[in-house]
Amino acid sequence: MAATGVERWLYPTEKGLYCEPGVFFIDPSRAVGRAIITHGHGDHARPGHAAVLATPETIEIMKVRMGPEGARSFAAFEHGTVQRIGSVDVRLAPAGHILGSAQVVLEHDGQRAVVSGDYKRQPDPTCAPFELVPCDVFVTEATFALPVFRHEPPKGEVARLLTSMAANPERTHLVGVYGLGKCQRLIKMCRQAGYDGPIYLHGALVELTKLYQRLGVDLGEIGHIDPASPGKGKAYAGALVLCPPSAVDDRWSRRFNDPVTSFASGWMRIRGRIRQAGVELPLVISDHADWPELLDTIVATGAEEVWVTHGREDALVYQLGLMGRKARALALVGFEDEAE
Ligand SMILES: [Zn+2]
Ligand SMILES: [Zn+2]
Repeated sequence: MAATGVERWLYPTEKGLYCEPGVFFIDPSRAVGRAIITHGHGDHARPGHAAVLATPETIEIMKVRMGPEGARSFAAFEHGTVQRIGSVDVRLAPAGHILGSAQVVLEHDGQRAVVSGDYKRQPDPTCAPFELVPCDVFVTEATFALPVFRHEPPKGEVARLLTSMAANPERTHLVGVYGLGKCQRLIKMCRQAGYDGPIYLHGALVELTKLYQRLGVDLGEIGHIDPASPGKGKAYAGALVLCPPSAVDDRWSRRFNDPVTSFASGWMRIRGRIRQAGVELPLVISDHADWPELLDTIVATGAEEVWVTHGREDALVYQLGLMGRKARALALVGFEDEAE
């Protein structure tokens, strides 16, 4: 595949996607000298790099998750500014995925490649919206790259949650959420929908939520579940409690009296996943593009070539082929069905 020639200067290696004329990696899976990090999720932001370039928010997230020593040095890269690195002009553009998430826009030799990291097009009140950047090569994720994945409008899903709370005023609503992004987005959407009661967090969700608040995302009154509190009886009756997905169904959750269990995730489109999660109120809320969003975005970039990574690569490559586009799977290692 030699059409645009971008693969001469940007290509996958065993450590991750490498930009040769800039001498840096993007979201490498192993420790490297210089890394540009698209966002703070664990399979993109790994510890041990000598130098990290990222948005200020992503740097703060990395420091909370892995300590200030997570990289030897951090350099903040503001949205919209262009930096010359080697012989590459680099810019970060919002990806709409979580707070601080960015696409990496690379220009070299008259060609432009965009490495989008993870992205979505749905509204998210906790981060800047996805910016469409026309390009020659678009590197896309494929987390939900199957036709079955069509995320519901998030407002409707939040309305279902609030309706259930109103209908079950004696029961605690226990919602599993991933701790970085989904947790804070769900809180904010509940606030925008008019819910102003207290929201309680499992201890594992507290630090990143506080960071969002420090970075200016107003989330209203947030309480923490006291680990010592047995919680039985009326303690959290009628309350909204958020916890990691694994806690919905473990010993920790037994403190709540007859809770309505829920999970907010793009996977809740799939009956098998709902059964596996064992929840009563599945909410289809995702921080990744669904199938139509992936296809629409790819077409809108006007990219001559599409490189696919991170998820259901084969299905997307196949579909793009049917649509007459050049597409290939990058086969990068180290990405998971992550934080979703
Ligand atoms: Zn992510
Ligand atoms: Zn990811």
